[in-house]
Amino acid sequence: MTNSFDFDLFVIGAGSGGVRTARVAASQGKRVAIAEVSDLGGTCVNVGCVPKKLFVYASQFPEIFHASEGYGWNHTNQATFNWNTLRDNKSNEIARLNAIYQKLLNDSGATIIQGRAKIEAPQRISINGQQYSAKRILIATGGWPHIPDIPGKELAVSSNEIFSLPELPKRAVIVGGGYIAVEFAGILNGLGVETHLIYRGNQLLKSFDRDCCAKVTEGMIKKGVKVTLDTNVSSITKCQQQLNINLDSGSSITVDMVLYATGRQANTEGLGLENTKVTLNDRKAIMVDENYCTSEPSIYAIGDVIDRVQLTPVAIKQAMALINHLYQDSKTKVDYTNIPTAVFSQPELATVGLTELQAKQQYTDIAVYRSDFKPMFDTLGQGSDRIFMKMIVNKTNDRVIGCHMVGHHAAEIIQGVAIAIKAGATKSHFDSTIGIHPSTAEEFVMLK
Ligand code: FAD
Ligand code: NDP
Repeated sequence: MTNSFDFDLFVIGAGSGGVRTARVAASQGKRVAIAEVSDLGGTCVNVGCVPKKLFVYASQFPEIFHASEGYGWNHTNQATFNWNTLRDNKSNEIARLNAIYQKLLNDSGATIIQGRAKIEAPQRISINGQQYSAKRILIATGGWPHIPDIPGKELAVSSNEIFSLPELPKRAVIVGGGYIAVEFAGILNGLGVETHLIYRGNQLLKSFDRDCCAKVTEGMIKKGVKVTLDTNVSSITKCQQQLNINLDSGSSITVDMVLYATGRQANTEGLGLENTKVTLNDRKAIMVDENYCTSEPSIYAIGDVIDRVQLTPVAIKQAMALINHLYQDSKTKVDYTNIPTAVFSQPELATVGLTELQAKQQYTDIAVYRSDFKPMFDTLGQGSDRIFMKMIVNKTNDRVIGCHMVGHHAAEIIQGVAIAIKAGATKSHFDSTIGIHPSTAEEFVMLK
């Protein structure tokens, strides 16, 4: 019966979730096709995690050069920065990753089809005028930057364009207060761009622990980012080569570039969902059950297009859970609790578990431990960075239910802490662990 279809599984979108599903299903002997309209690897590889992290590294060098003087280094020549070198080296690295993705898919036996896929019927897809049938279809089309409707919005760039700018602006406005806005404020500021961050609310990164948001904001301002809160952009106008960013406060900022980082919407337009029973939620994301099945029994969806947690490792876990559900006996589900995450802001923020506010709402008796100190690196380096750590404990059973950190290596440190929390570690477990000295991380086992 299966063989009456061209494929057992037709995956639409070769991003984090789609590639993993296609590769694993094909390597298990399924007949798999994967369609991609752009570059293999999706958002994360091409216009997300990877180029972003490379840009974060690039933007940290001025502080490292400065710190090195306290360690005895003498820079006789002023360091200069070349945007074209960074942009083009980044593009070469991404081309290398695209080729690796292609090889992984080819080696698994999946058929790669380049083009925009449209669902014509619950088990039929068209691409480039060609029709294919499949027993099951997986929608893994990710998300797309959303720019609110304001006059002049066409003058703004999004995270899709920022990685390939023909030249680095001298002055920039970033609109938004979430992951991308805060990360790019650090990147542009570090690369020497006069950087303004405009956010409509009164606290950046509002889903994170409040103390940590305050520390990140304070640190960013100290490093030179000009942060304006409680403010909306009313319009953008162009005058010669300059952009005027007109604010609802009545004032305006003149810059060379405006980056909108105001969230991402599920990529469902033009997919042909009207030819199916697939339903969308009020944010236009695809609705699925706990096994990622849509309202159309032959169609599944994972990753950013289902609007759960928009992170690469989550899309990959969903892919593995789907494979288990469709083709294996094991029925493991994705556990959405205690997902560690980092904002690669400067200073960096990483977190796992409950914020203090969430812990207070869920538990009657909690203990909160905090530590705020100068990192050893900055003693000779003469930087002004601080490290902030916070641990939240459920006092009734001593379980650690949240750990948060702002400062150097926060992501690297919290990844390890997340394993302990997932395993149900108590404060006593942390206290009885011997620290690695001298390190920043050891503070997590010495919190009093
Ligand atoms: P995607 O990776 O977006 O892949 C979807 C693919 O589908 C795309 O390649 C698209 O071209 C293709 N497609 C869409 N429609 C069609 C169609 N009709 N036919 C064929 N192909 C189609 N996450 C982290 O965990 N850590 C980070 O540091 C991080 N940084 C980020 C930085 C930025 C600037 C952005 C934008 C995102 C970042 N993310 C990060 C989020 C992460 O990139 C996403 O959560 C992840 O890529 C989602 O994977 P996905 O498979 O759902 O979709
Ligand atoms: P976020 O959801 O993180 O932030 C969106 C921001 O835009 C919020 O501050 C929001 O404000 C604001 N906003 C929304 N609508 C408007 C509007 N109409 N006018 C003004 N401001 C508005 O989205 P991002 O775009 O930053 O990133 C998308 C997702 O990608 C993230 O949620 C994350 O899951 C993922 N990502 C992960 C990264 C990582 O792991 N390090 C890095 C980058 C992205 P308000 O809060 O008031 O609604």
